[in-house]
Amino acid sequence: MKLSTLKSLYQCKCPRCHEGDMFLRGQILNPTKFSDMNKECSNCGQYLEPEPGFYLGAMFISYGFNTAVFIAVWVTLSILKPDYSLTLLLTLIGVAVLLLTPFIYRISRSIWLSFFVSYRGKDLPSSE
Ligand SMILES: [Zn+2]
Repeated sequence: MKLSTLKSLYQCKCPRCHEGDMFLRGQILNPTKFSDMNKECSNCGQYLEPEPGFYLGAMFISYGFNTAVFIAVWVTLSILKPDYSLTLLLTLIGVAVLLLTPFIYRISRSIWLSFFVSYRGKDLPSSE
């Protein structure tokens, strides 16, 4: 996997041209807008929701990320405070998951779309 592909996944860019944004800019911290997507890539015209329910599979990627967050919080707490309570653990996991939801949601969709749309260069005609 190329570095530019990883960068485009992380930045939620169109997987076809790595230029256009998948999500609305500047809305990642807005709790009601972080999930709003552009209908198509502004650079190449790639449709970003190919069919209804397309992103259902992104839930499995999100599940993987959330499991990693659970494990990271659990291991960190076990090291820093070995006599932690279950309430503290569940509270910290809840807070971590809530804070990371916009990032995990977006990157999961970005990864899922990249499974089906391959990179074809920066300068594509938007009518293709
Ligand atoms: Zn594009």
